[in-house]
Amino acid sequence: MIRLAVIGDPIEHSLSPAVHGAALDRLGVEYEYKKVHVRPEELGEFVKTAKREGLDGFNLTMPHKVNILPYLSRIDDEARYYSAVNTVCIRNGELHGFNTDGIGYELALGRMGKKFSGSRLVVLGAGGAAAAVIAAAIRGGAESISVACRTAAHAEKICDRDLGDTKIKICGFSDTEIAAECECAEVLINATPLGMEGVSHSFDGFDFIDALPGDALVSDLIYKPKKTALLTEAENRGLKIQNGLDMLIFQAIAADERYLDRQLDMQDLYNTVIDAVGDR
Ligand code: NAP
Repeated sequence: MIRLAVIGDPIEHSLSPAVHGAALDRLGVEYEYKKVHVRPEELGEFVKTAKREGLDGFNLTMPHKVNILPYLSRIDDEARYYSAVNTVCIRNGELHGFNTDGIGYELALGRMGKKFSGSRLVVLGAGGAAAAVIAAAIRGGAESISVACRTAAHAEKICDRDLGDTKIKICGFSDTEIAAECECAEVLINATPLGMEGVSHSFDGFDFIDALPGDALVSDLIYKPKKTALLTEAENRGLKIQNGLDMLIFQAIAADERYLDRQLDMQDLYNTVIDAVGDR
């Protein structure tokens, strides 16, 4: 029996128990996977309880991905590269940190016939999810990444790394500024909460979508609702669209590989999980 959890604040909306549950059922692994509401000031207490109760590991969502770092005995190269952790394995009472968000997004992109290598991306937002996507894209050899955001300092911080051959441009969040970046983009990625269930703010307008080439992909990291206003507008203009569910599923399967310490059949498990949670 493997004992796992997902922690966050808020956590009620999380699909992680259903996603991991479907994958672990398919693998025939006996498991317990619970959702735990952990506020920022409760993280230390949660870590103590997790060790005491013999938890084998846990996934982390907002706002714990960076705050967990001081509690780790070991951090793998991937998580070090992202300076954030979304998966913790507890082995012999020690916490080992991993990050599967980047690989999760890369595999999701692959399902749409796209890859980072040589690609031109526009990323909206400069928070934790944007950081993971941008880091993975730089490592994957993206040609250029335009980061459109309201706080330039946040974008500067997440792009402050070895860029290799990738060109980075930081711009404002107005319709006109985003449109200018969209003109030769292959993938537009929304990494802001705009359009998410329960979030009242939305985009000021969607004219920037008109600037995208006809074969561009519009990718929204949000998975609730399944089709955000951004995706609906993009689809109405004949563009390819993808919501955040594929990323969620792939990062979860990659996390299960860390928990079980073995390689898994990503495609088979993706098919199983999408059948189980695709309608939610
Ligand atoms: P975060 O760290 O809070 O970052 C949010 C970003 O959005 C920040 O850059 C913020 O700007 C920007 N933003 C927020 N409100 C805005 C507004 N009104 N106008 C312009 N920009 C605004 O959040 P996160 O963890 O990156 O999550 C972002 C989204 O990705 C969420 O919807 C989350 O559900 C989704 N997500 C999906 C997955 C998945 O597996 N599919 C994984 C992680 C996250 P400032 O920099 O100015 O604060």
